[in-house]
Amino acid sequence: MTLSIRWKVALGTLLAITLGLAAAGWLAFRSIEKLELAHAEEKLAARTGLTALTLQPLLTRPDTPPIRLQAMAHELSRHASARVTVIDQQGRVLADSDVPDDAVSKIENHVSRPEVAGALSTGHGTDLRWSETTGQRLFYLAQRVTFPGSRTVHVVRLAMPLTTLETRIREFQRALAIAFGVAFLVSVTLSLLIARGLTRPLSDIATVARQLAGGALRQRIQTRSKDEVGVLAATLNQMADQMDRDITALRRLEQVRKDFVANVSHELRTPLTSIKGYVEALLDGAKDNPEEATRFLQIILNQSDRLNLILEDLLQLSQIESGLVRFKRDPVSLSALVERTLPFIKPLMDKKRQSLTVMVSPDLPPVSGDEDRLVQVLTNLLDNAVKYTPEGGTIHIAGQPTNDPAQVELSVADTGIGIPEADRPRVFERFYRVDKARSREMGGTGLGLSIVRHIVEGHTGKIWVEGNQPSGSRFVIHLPVVSEAAGPTQTSLDIPA
Ligand code: ADP
Repeated sequence: MTLSIRWKVALGTLLAITLGLAAAGWLAFRSIEKLELAHAEEKLAARTGLTALTLQPLLTRPDTPPIRLQAMAHELSRHASARVTVIDQQGRVLADSDVPDDAVSKIENHVSRPEVAGALSTGHGTDLRWSETTGQRLFYLAQRVTFPGSRTVHVVRLAMPLTTLETRIREFQRALAIAFGVAFLVSVTLSLLIARGLTRPLSDIATVARQLAGGALRQRIQTRSKDEVGVLAATLNQMADQMDRDITALRRLEQVRKDFVANVSHELRTPLTSIKGYVEALLDGAKDNPEEATRFLQIILNQSDRLNLILEDLLQLSQIESGLVRFKRDPVSLSALVERTLPFIKPLMDKKRQSLTVMVSPDLPPVSGDEDRLVQVLTNLLDNAVKYTPEGGTIHIAGQPTNDPAQVELSVADTGIGIPEADRPRVFERFYRVDKARSREMGGTGLGLSIVRHIVEGHTGKIWVEGNQPSGSRFVIHLPVVSEAAGPTQTSLDIPA
């Protein structure tokens, strides 16, 4: 099992706190004991000094009877609240307040007791031990006593049981332990709370990230923090937005593809059904009637041409859309473009007795583009203008500058049936026709303007259609002019269609 980040943070904090408290506690315990002992020593040293001073007259006199010394030791012990022992230079105990008078002479030699040895050699000695004589834990303090004019050396020793001191220390330590226990509990609670506060946004993020990964792309992380966690949450949210958008776009594309397949099938089925119908009629006997047979065969031929036309347009469109076709970037003059295109269209216009006007501004800079493709653009537009303008109408081609010096405008206007405003943006979609029957009757595939738009946009240009005054439509194209920096002869790879 892996530990959640919350527990990791909480346990880490706790460990640090516990170690800190333990170290502080140990130091406090130790220093209390030391302090108390130092204090006790100070007190005991003062009393020992006073005791020695009081004993001075007895000790300097060589004939003092031991019983007198012993009585004095008792007396002083009462005043000093401590055991009083008098020892001579050889370590013999001369008097001891805690020992019955007749037993003093039987006490073993004290010369090797640490405090006595200390006092004899340095003048001062202490020790802390269990007394063999009284069976208590005692704090001993011994002082060497010499007196001016006398060569005798004595040691006066005071001893105090440490029971009160120890109870005090223990009480103090108990209070300390309670304080540390409380501090520990508080820090456990705090570290748990802090760990939760710190890690909750992270676990929220983890939860939402899991949901996002599971496909719930509408999920978002709620966070107000501005720190790294906040940044992480915002980034994840952004990613989710992006994914959501991408998926929406993908779905739309998928829909477009489905529509396209349906449209193409429909467009192809119409001529095929017609061909099949006439072939069946021929097989059923029409072939024996030469006149009827010729008429039917002519229809079949027309429908086959139409199929061919649709397939050609589709092929071209898919090539342009696939992005595989790169357009040349040659300098193309608009007047040359018009001149190259008109021969294809002029016969159709003449047939419908339509008149044509062309107006290209004289010193218009050349556009940067693929001449063959641009001829195709103009051909499609003019072809439509002829198709959707009745006999005797007028078609007008214009080339002129725009407000942007980097762009020029090419437009084709007619006095034909026009396009209702609502349909205008849609006529550039594949297979979109304002009047299906009429378009088909004119031999249209519904793909011409899609191809036009793709070529124009492939040139980083723009195309739209507006109403023409007083009637008809006006198709407007903006194309980039050759930029000075790029030079006039720049070309790019052209994949043949
Ligand atoms: P089609 O092969 O049907 O002409 P297009 O893509 O070239 O296909 O044009 C799409 C539709 O836009 C046409 O069916 C027609 O309804 C409309 N349209 C195009 N050009 C004109 C125009 N000059 N006048 C009126 N309608 C037009």
